[in-house]
Amino acid sequence: MLLAIDIGGTKIAAAWVENGQVIERRQQPMATDPVGFMEVIGQLVLGWPAPEQVAVAATGYINDGKVHSVNQEIIAFWDGFPLADRLTERFACPLILMNDGQAAAWGEYQARQTTVSQNSPDNLLFITLSTGVGGGLVLDRQLRIGPHGLAGHVGHTTVSCQPTDDDLRCGCGRQSCLEKIASGTALGRQASAMFGRTMSSAELFSLALTDPRAEAIIDNAAKAVAEAISNLHMTLDLSEIVIGGSVGLADGMLHRIRLALANAPNLMQVPVSAAMLGPDAGLIGIMQLATNVENSVENSVENS
Ligand code: ADP
Ligand code: ZN
Repeated sequence: MLLAIDIGGTKIAAAWVENGQVIERRQQPMATDPVGFMEVIGQLVLGWPAPEQVAVAATGYINDGKVHSVNQEIIAFWDGFPLADRLTERFACPLILMNDGQAAAWGEYQARQTTVSQNSPDNLLFITLSTGVGGGLVLDRQLRIGPHGLAGHVGHTTVSCQPTDDDLRCGCGRQSCLEKIASGTALGRQASAMFGRTMSSAELFSLALTDPRAEAIIDNAAKAVAEAISNLHMTLDLSEIVIGGSVGLADGMLHRIRLALANAPNLMQVPVSAAMLGPDAGLIGIMQLATNVENSVENSVENS
């Protein structure tokens, strides 16, 4: 039995996998402290057989089996938390651990290799618009992780678009990060400031159907994503951009990003598609990496 886990800023998903097939998938809210976190892990696997292997995709950058939030406001205890050690102690079996955006990029890249109707891209950028904004890069058919585990952290590249509430300061220490405009957290924050009451990103999307002010917040976020895509395309020369995460997959978001990108010069046009694996890109990606650790991965943390 392979246990695949995807840890985000809002939720943790887990899958019981046998011979590459998901037997059962479960989801729980993400915890706010290490003790609560291990309890949630326990609840997720309740009644499942002991795993022979654990595959973990986690938000944050990973170094030496420890996780660090780039934006400390998202998971405060992700400050060098020894995730690989904690899970190895808990499950006593080999474990692989990777950033969630990187795992998702690999999942989406693989999904495009097996879909005959598509030209499989050699250079793919995955962007997740979720609690934060993350991502992953496959370049020349190789998943990039980087010497600091940072490859694909596009949420902390800056954009010239400004958040509608003018709150520029990002929890990573910079100003004007993409994450500050286009994450679910940022959309909820901008909506709350605009409408004078606490609003979630999902509520904002519903309101945008009837209220142009709500629509403007989402459009501005889409413009910021398109700006980041143009920047990254001119840096890396990409074949395809894949958008995932609950915000990225929310109704109309992909369309808005495409419209915004269409205003960029021709050279900066690059196909943008939705995650074929939907919200499970990270979960499926890490599951594939665990079952098929080819030499396509530059390096990943492996504890055994
Ligand atoms: P995680 O960050 O844990 O991987 P998600 O990809 O689900 O999880 O992203 C969570 C973020 O997406 C939260 O900020 C939440 O408010 C927002 N969100 C969840 N559902 C929706 C929706 N249907 N439409 C827009 N935003 C959503
Ligand atoms: Zn930042």
